[in-house]
Amino acid sequence: MAHSYQEVLRCGAQLAMNEELPLCPEAEEALQRLMSGNALFLEKRHNPAELTDRIRLQTAHEGQHPRTALLCCADSRVPPEHIFSAGIGELFVIRNAGNVVSPAALGSLEYAAAHLHVPLILIMGHRGCGAVTAALQKHQEPGALGALIAQVHLGIGHAHDPRQAERNNLCHSLEALGESEVLRDLADRGRLAFAGAIYDIRTGAVELLIHED
Ligand SMILES: [Zn+2]
Repeated sequence: MAHSYQEVLRCGAQLAMNEELPLCPEAEEALQRLMSGNALFLEKRHNPAELTDRIRLQTAHEGQHPRTALLCCADSRVPPEHIFSAGIGELFVIRNAGNVVSPAALGSLEYAAAHLHVPLILIMGHRGCGAVTAALQKHQEPGALGALIAQVHLGIGHAHDPRQAERNNLCHSLEALGESEVLRDLADRGRLAFAGAIYDIRTGAVELLIHED
């Protein structure tokens, strides 16, 4: 691996808060588990995580303690628990087309961070995103879908290349996290960190966002 998880988290912090944040070792550990889960997914092509009666009953009785809050696209080719070899109670997942930080998505992330104490928020875009393609092609759609594509259009900026547009949209979503005082406060106290990633729907690999100087 050419980069460290700290570099990934630093990149997330700068995009989200535009500043240096205190180290959050729990976030580094959460990121490490996600990526080793993805390596397992790439190796085995199935999800070996615990989906048993035991874990279902345990989490029902004791409550949930997810280690990561994840915002990703609703695309059916992007199933987060499988991609990260995660079982019941491990990931707090918010999904919508284009991984947009809507008020509902932001509220859900605040809940995960402030009440479930997840140390890591990961936003994950993906290759071949239909929402990004629709925004690139300036599709006009009626109703709420039109509003959603307009949001993604804001996210892609002036990009023409689909890969750059996907990356821009991801960075835009990370930047939107900085609008939350709740998240900002937790990050300032070293309790929360941010990361971005792009999932390749062909290979199954997750590529973490790092600085490109
Ligand atoms: Zn998508």
